[in-house]
Amino acid sequence: MADNVGNADARPDLELGEEFGENKPTIDEQEMADAQAGCGQTAIGMPLGEARQDDLRPRPAEAEGSGHPGAPLGHPGGHPGGHPGGHPAGVERQRHGGARSMGFRPGGGPAALAYQERTGIKAPRIIAWEITRSCNLSCAHCRAAAEFGHYSGELSLDEIKTTVDDIVTISNPIIILTGGEPLMRPDIWDIVDYCHEKGAMPVIGTNATMITDEIAAKMAEHKIPRISVSIDFPTAEEHDKFRGQEGCFDQSIEGIKIAKRHGVGVQINTTVTTLNADKIEEIHDLAEDLGVDAFHIFMLVPTGRGSDLLEQELPPEEYERVLTWAYHRQKTSPLHFKPTDSPHYYRIIRQLAKAEGKKVTREEYGLDAMTRGCLGGITFCFISHVGDIQPCGYFDMQLGNIKEQPFSQIWTESKVFNDLRDYSLLKGKCGACEYKAVCGGCRARALEITGDYLEAEPYCSYEPPNWTGECAEKATAEE
Ligand code: SF4
Ligand code: SF4
Repeated sequence: MADNVGNADARPDLELGEEFGENKPTIDEQEMADAQAGCGQTAIGMPLGEARQDDLRPRPAEAEGSGHPGAPLGHPGGHPGGHPGGHPAGVERQRHGGARSMGFRPGGGPAALAYQERTGIKAPRIIAWEITRSCNLSCAHCRAAAEFGHYSGELSLDEIKTTVDDIVTISNPIIILTGGEPLMRPDIWDIVDYCHEKGAMPVIGTNATMITDEIAAKMAEHKIPRISVSIDFPTAEEHDKFRGQEGCFDQSIEGIKIAKRHGVGVQINTTVTTLNADKIEEIHDLAEDLGVDAFHIFMLVPTGRGSDLLEQELPPEEYERVLTWAYHRQKTSPLHFKPTDSPHYYRIIRQLAKAEGKKVTREEYGLDAMTRGCLGGITFCFISHVGDIQPCGYFDMQLGNIKEQPFSQIWTESKVFNDLRDYSLLKGKCGACEYKAVCGGCRARALEITGDYLEAEPYCSYEPPNWTGECAEKATAEE
């Protein structure tokens, strides 16, 4: 299955300065924060390496047809790294794996710094790369609507290497290898090794159903700091139904345990819909019982196969409730939390902190105080299985193709990317919002619902005091 990936930050350094006052992050801090913030869907996948095709076949019922052996879905995303502060002392945080724990600073290398100085544009710090769209599952909310089988036009290993060569001329990003199921690619270990060799940091999003001892050992051997695995329900019955394959819950749980045994960090991603919004606490507890390192909730973005789930999209008030739950729950959870594709979480943090008489400082809130909601096109982007570049996997607009133009040129020159970097262009209530520097709204949802990526986020219930216009987007969302 596909995943989400997103991110935020931007030339908003200036605006962040206004927002944070004396707490304005330094460039280094901001970079770290950006690197930490994962938004959008990303699957974390697993490498196959030179594993035999047979080894990669899904344990569940084999899919018919061609080409690729089955594979899991993944949800990339994540990053390693621990969660910010603001947690009661004594809560032991598990921070296993993760690029940062390996001393890696995405977008902090000499090429990135030179690029930023030369162009005034931030270098990409996280790139989600759909290295294949093939998948062994057919999840209802899949961004890519991925299915088992061969997809024509997928990037070759040479094309991937050429693009990595270009990317590292402007940055040293984390590259989330996603899908589809990235383990479906027999050359995944070559891709992983090449990223490392060139100074980028690969991580993988997977559904974990294919993880065997052999594959987990490969992951450790090839220095994958963390995988992310999508679990959307606390029970096998519900999860299997949602994922479209009987037995995949048990396989994913087993895969998680195997990865842990091999010392690979694990992040659980949960896409929140009306179907599971009241089960988030149970899923969190399952993640805690499994001893994983992070728990990231993803807010459904109705694109791809997920567009069929429009009715399962939470109404704005429910979004608010879930994000408020996340704010309070993470105070005592040992897991790293990261609400994703929900930029208004960063507005909610500030509102709730204020109600508690607190200021959102780095000391108190860690990197949550330093980052921004949507980073799509700002320090984050997505490369599709055929080489199309998008601000994120949900943002249904292709800004160029790496078979025709270097990645670095698209990143630098795309009008859409440059629009997203300029918060003054935001329209509607997002344009008038005092939180736009730390939130910005989901641009993919705005595009999907209104046809204009600069319009207001349709799933935010907040009405900025400076906003005097009609909240048409809200009315639309309620229809
Ligand atoms: S546009 Fe939406 S889905 Fe994409 S990165 Fe931003 S918040 Fe996430
Ligand atoms: S109005 Fe827009 S910028 Fe303000 S909190 Fe809501 S989504 Fe974010």
